[in-house]
Amino acid sequence: MTGYFSAPFARRKSVGVDVGGVIVGGGAPVVVQSMTNTDTADVDQTVRQVAALHRAGSEIVRITVDRDEAAAAVPGIRERLDRLGINVPLVGDFHYIGHRLLADHPECAEALAKYRINPGNVGFKEKKDKQFGAIVEMAIRYNKPVRIGVNWGSLDADLLTRLMDENQKKGSPLTAQEVTREAIVQSALLSADAAEEIGLPREKIILSAKVSQVQDLIAVYTELAKRSDHALHLGLTEAGMGSKGIVASSAAMGILLQQGIGDTIRVSLTPEPNGDRTREVQVAQELLQTMGFRQFVPTVAACPGCGRTTSTVFQELAQNIQADLRKNMPLWREKYPGVEELKVAVMGCIVNGPGESKHADIGISLPGTGEMPTAPVFIDGRKAATLRGPDIAEEFEKMVADYIEQRFGR
Ligand code: SF4
Repeated sequence: MTGYFSAPFARRKSVGVDVGGVIVGGGAPVVVQSMTNTDTADVDQTVRQVAALHRAGSEIVRITVDRDEAAAAVPGIRERLDRLGINVPLVGDFHYIGHRLLADHPECAEALAKYRINPGNVGFKEKKDKQFGAIVEMAIRYNKPVRIGVNWGSLDADLLTRLMDENQKKGSPLTAQEVTREAIVQSALLSADAAEEIGLPREKIILSAKVSQVQDLIAVYTELAKRSDHALHLGLTEAGMGSKGIVASSAAMGILLQQGIGDTIRVSLTPEPNGDRTREVQVAQELLQTMGFRQFVPTVAACPGCGRTTSTVFQELAQNIQADLRKNMPLWREKYPGVEELKVAVMGCIVNGPGESKHADIGISLPGTGEMPTAPVFIDGRKAATLRGPDIAEEFEKMVADYIEQRFGR
């Protein structure tokens, strides 16, 4: 997009990669993905969590494959998911011994839709190239794509040392931080070149270069995007817990997405103990939806409330509507095609209430302090009803349900 007031920038052109039927890059919508935190050897728990992540909207799910028991469990996990009608592609996350696990467990190699390779820990010294090559050869044999996932916490130590030495010999024109960023970018690009030399086509390679600081992530991906046309997986690693993780991920990825960089995203949140793992999927969806790149669930516009309203009715109503819409989406996707485009407004008083409600498909302007105890409801920009009395919230919720049935019902 170009011209006055145009935003965002056009998407960066990248080579599309088919991950078990989900296209990443090549102009496809930005894909939401997530990762389990169960022991993959525990089939029951892993199936349960993959199903929950997928139901929440994860379009690709990554699972850890760290040892023989985990690799042996993968075909059973795939089978159980298929029986449940959950066809979400599974990605195997391999470190250190991925080459051996894939060779020893061919059914695992077949069941996975993609392999994630960390070039920083596929092996050491002379073994490194051999082991990296072995995983790439498995990908070629099983016709699977790979993600070459560099992570600054496990960056290729030899490469970093070499670049540091070269920088020093030149009189240190770059800071240590800049050399590290360069090493991260080079690790991804050199590994991609090596994979292509072995025979893996570009349409089978996705790159990522995760770091934990916002400015590092923006710098590294901006450079990676300039120097290659590979599909890019975005994610801020170790983003943290709660609002810190959400803000950091959104700030970093939002800036890159706005520049057209990024073909798939994962929001890596540290869950609270026993916390809901699907939160990261919800945040990723909300990031893409807020920025106008994709629409996953109906939008609820709600004012923040102020001194003009002393009741909590409207906050509760907005919350209930939002929660109900999200909860019902897995079912509604089938029953009400296009319902994710719905816009609902729940407003607290007459100042902005009627105006905002008219812009929504269906909206309510609740009475503020000192106002008549009535709540006008607007449908498709026109006043459709005036609610009053103690059951305003329930009546409005029913009107929303009726509107959805009428407009989106098959
Ligand atoms: Fe306050 Fe009314 Fe604005 Fe809501 S719409 S923030 S209640 S002035």
